[in-house]
Amino acid sequence: MDTEVLIIGAGPTGLMLANQLARRAVQALIIDRHPGPTLQTRALGVQARTLEIYSHLGIVDQALTLGKRTLAAELWVQGRRAARVPVGDIGRDLSPYPFVLILGQDDNERLLGDALRKSGMTIQWNTELIGLEQEPHQVAATLKQADGSIRKVTAAWVAGCDGAHSAVRDLNGIAFDGAPYEHVFFVADTQATGPMVPEELNVYLWREGFHLFFPMRGIDHWRLVGILPPSLRHKDNLTFEEVIPSLHQEAGTELSFKACSWFSTYRIHHRRAERFRERRCFLLGDAAHIHSPVGAQGMNTGLQDAYNLAWKLALVVSGRAGAGLLDSYEEERIPVAVRLLSTTDRMFSLIVSDSRLAGLFRTKIMARMAAFAMGFDSIRKLAFRTISQIGIRYPNSTLSVTQADLPKRAPRAGDRFPWLRLKLTADGPTEDLFGNLDDTRFTLLLFGQTPPDGIADLGDLLRIHRVPNDPANDSELGRGQIPQPSFYLLRPDGHVGLCGVHLDATAVSRYFSERLKISPQQPRESRGGP
Ligand SMILES: Cc1cc2nc3c(=O)[nH]c(=O)nc-3n(C[C@H](O)[C@H](O)[C@H](O)COP(=O)(O)OP(=O)(O)OC[C@H]3O[C@@H](n4cnc5c(N)ncnc54)[C@H](O)[C@@H]3O)c2cc1C
Repeated sequence: MDTEVLIIGAGPTGLMLANQLARRAVQALIIDRHPGPTLQTRALGVQARTLEIYSHLGIVDQALTLGKRTLAAELWVQGRRAARVPVGDIGRDLSPYPFVLILGQDDNERLLGDALRKSGMTIQWNTELIGLEQEPHQVAATLKQADGSIRKVTAAWVAGCDGAHSAVRDLNGIAFDGAPYEHVFFVADTQATGPMVPEELNVYLWREGFHLFFPMRGIDHWRLVGILPPSLRHKDNLTFEEVIPSLHQEAGTELSFKACSWFSTYRIHHRRAERFRERRCFLLGDAAHIHSPVGAQGMNTGLQDAYNLAWKLALVVSGRAGAGLLDSYEEERIPVAVRLLSTTDRMFSLIVSDSRLAGLFRTKIMARMAAFAMGFDSIRKLAFRTISQIGIRYPNSTLSVTQADLPKRAPRAGDRFPWLRLKLTADGPTEDLFGNLDDTRFTLLLFGQTPPDGIADLGDLLRIHRVPNDPANDSELGRGQIPQPSFYLLRPDGHVGLCGVHLDATAVSRYFSERLKISPQQPRESRGGP
């Protein structure tokens, strides 16, 4: 076998998977048919959950330095300033990163690429997957190299991170059902001056559509995204200059463009792969799901697909877990994609519809409604939980076990464990819990109890934190609805696996062996099978 994992595609999803596997010492090969990283900004919004993952990867500080925090959304209706929605710390107390970071896809890929290089893994550019054969214990992949030569590579597992036109998906005969939207989007990287409020997201709503100005790094640097007016929708070889008059019409002639370094139009589809796995091949990111850019979810969802699969693949490849653990990947990520497609589709249809009613909603109701609703703490929190992706849960997963005695309001199995600041030792300082979680291991958090005798011996796979009784801890645990006593067994990706009130050592052993297919004894030799 040439490699344990063959990753097809070095976009954000493939880079995240490669990084997570490298950190876990999994031998992997990552290829991409392009000659080098993308120079296009494409996706722009980096969500809090992604930043939490970046912090474990050691790249969050660079991301925060390069990006811009969205302080507020300025809503303009037919050229007039209509409302301002402050969103700067919308997720305060919910995440160490309570905002949306504006950072282009090219910068994200560069940070992920640099981290990968540091871990010693290199991307093989100019290498295209053109054939796949699934064999009982491996996959044989046919790769076309830059000089046109063909190379065969065998791998235990293949990860299709190869985007919307995925060859892995097609070669496995997996349907990608859905449809294109009628509207055509445009995107432009510009240097512009005008009425836009600096450093804020400026949203222009008009009868026939909308456009958004995202503040970018650099002087007068704005990324412009919008839908084309119907008159330009079917025009071939459209240039940015041809779009400018419609922008002036809505934003006023004060708006002036000094430069445009990138302009592209694209038609959006909403599609989902019917399954995310075929025996030894997996689909992740845009290869598995594509949808409208409403809410800046696309890139972030692909990154989380990779984060979900990586720890499971690493355990199986190392022989610590049986291959049955991998069944939970699509079991957990398909419902996330289904929900994402339906919510973005509903929002998108409401925002972009050509109907007169939708035009009235955009220009008469939307701005006021958004400003009013976001005045309520509970709505702000709900909006943040949804958009930031910290609210993603796997309640119906085989890996999620909530014991019956846990109070209803407490976090449950499948939830991302809440962000808390706790004293982890009796005399120690209050610390960021997330900063103390090691995402290459499981963590057992014990509140108001001591570890029972006979807890499964999992060696370096499990860390146990007994959180001491302390008034500061009591109030923080109360805020997070965590009862005392209680226990939470966290998976490496920070989601709760097993939880309940009183910890019983046999329940933990049973959870590891029956749900995670991990035996508490010595590492096994086998690689498992599908
Ligand atoms: C113009 C545009 C604007 C967008 N704007 C936004 C936005 O504002 N917000 C948002 O969230 N999302 C946006 N998106 C979507 C976002 O870019 C994607 O969700 C994201 O790129 C998905 O990452 P990925 O790694 O899964 O796939 P990709 O980024 O598509 O990467 C796939 C990689 O696989 C490689 N590849 C493909 N086939 C093969 C093969 N056979 N062999 C080897 N390599 C192969 C490709 O070269 C590519 O590098 C936009 C997309 C476009 C096109």
